[in-house]
Amino acid sequence: MPGGRRPLVGVLALQGAFAAHQRALESCAADTRQVRLPDDLDGLDGLVMPGGESTTMSRLLTTSGLFEPIGERIEDGLAVFGTCAGMILLARDVLDGRPDQRSFAAIDIAVRRNGYGRQIDSFEADIDVPGTDREAGIGTVPFHAVFIRAPKVESVGPSVTVLAEHDGVPVLARSGRMFVASFHPELTPDHRLHSLFLQEV
Ligand code: GLN
Repeated sequence: MPGGRRPLVGVLALQGAFAAHQRALESCAADTRQVRLPDDLDGLDGLVMPGGESTTMSRLLTTSGLFEPIGERIEDGLAVFGTCAGMILLARDVLDGRPDQRSFAAIDIAVRRNGYGRQIDSFEADIDVPGTDREAGIGTVPFHAVFIRAPKVESVGPSVTVLAEHDGVPVLARSGRMFVASFHPELTPDHRLHSLFLQEV
């Protein structure tokens, strides 16, 4: 962060797992603000879109008046980290979504809602994130990833870098200052992915 000040990261707080993201970000020396209304976007250095229920979040983004201003901030290059339902909200294509479900189409991936199927609604897996980002401590120890009715990435465009896969399926990816994960990095005490994101804010 230029000037050494603590970054101010908004956490979309319409629904879902926002409080755990706040705790993770704060433990990585960021300040956080719950985002519920357009004014809450003022002065943010980054934004986290948490897991939850993407259809509900889509509806609340519209009724709160947040959808358009967030879309504009994303186009202006705001750093964004979308996890699980947040990943669905950022995806170019949402498969098995509700017909009225909206997404920001901000990262060139196609995701299938609940794509891991009912029999494994939720599961946990250790995933390797190859590459060595020393500052964030990545590339040394695997991440314990918690998947909860997770979206499955079905295709990835050329502008997207896949950072980690599980069983050959991308589960963590980035495109510029945007990061998406199909799992819940805020539910484990390992905050290296939040640190990685904070390098971009
Ligand atoms: N299945 C949820 C959805 O479609 C996402 C689940 C989650 O965020 N843990 O929005």
